[in-house]
Amino acid sequence: ESQTAAASVQGLLERFAEVCATHETELGRLDAVAGDGDHGQGMVLGTRGAVEAGLKALERGAGARTLLVHAGTAWAESAGGTSGALWGSALTAASRALSDTSAPEEAEGVRALHNAVEAVQRLGGAQPGDKTMIDAAVPFARALQDRFQAGEGFSAALESAAAVATEAAASTSELKARLGRSRVLGEKSLGTPDPGATSFALLMTALAEHLGS
Ligand code: ADP
Ligand code: MG
Ligand code: MG
Repeated sequence: ESQTAAASVQGLLERFAEVCATHETELGRLDAVAGDGDHGQGMVLGTRGAVEAGLKALERGAGARTLLVHAGTAWAESAGGTSGALWGSALTAASRALSDTSAPEEAEGVRALHNAVEAVQRLGGAQPGDKTMIDAAVPFARALQDRFQAGEGFSAALESAAAVATEAAASTSELKARLGRSRVLGEKSLGTPDPGATSFALLMTALAEHLGS
């Protein structure tokens, strides 16, 4: 059973890598408007690093928790850049809600995602409205929690929350960047959605599909 959970996490990382490869150009283009244009590349390198580390961990017989820790470290190291560090810490934080020896309960899945978003907030220090991935991640985490507490199952709640993230990411086009590399060119970012919020929504949509299927 624990093996199944680790294999499922690995399958998710592979899905993440596919999604980032598919959207690499688009994410780079969004980042080029007011940033340095490397967000697509960073997400591809990060998710690829995570997949490789996850595979090695699986081969050693690691459980889901340990696999995620290794994947998170590899993501940050392989991506470089701000978003890589944030995603790395998100995976590590998520791992704390999981076990190496048993498959996660639904509530542990909710907690893992809550921990991940909290870690991004803590490490990045961004506030809602700063035009970062936080503007998709915070509404996502809130929607997930609300729907789950209202009695929807984990995968149904996740599907709703991913839709909230997608809408929230699109809405960041109305904001001016105030943090990260984009702050210098903040005005320029008006009318374009934040790259990190966009990739966050893409990955949470992939997660919902992965767990719903
Ligand atoms: P870099 O800015 O180092 O080139 P990326 O281009 O990969 O890294 O990532 C840029 C994205 O990182 C932004 O679109 C934003 O969503 C996110 N980001 C930047 N700074 C922060 C922060 N302090 N907190 C949360 N997210 C941030
Ligand atoms: Mg960049
Ligand atoms: Mg960069």
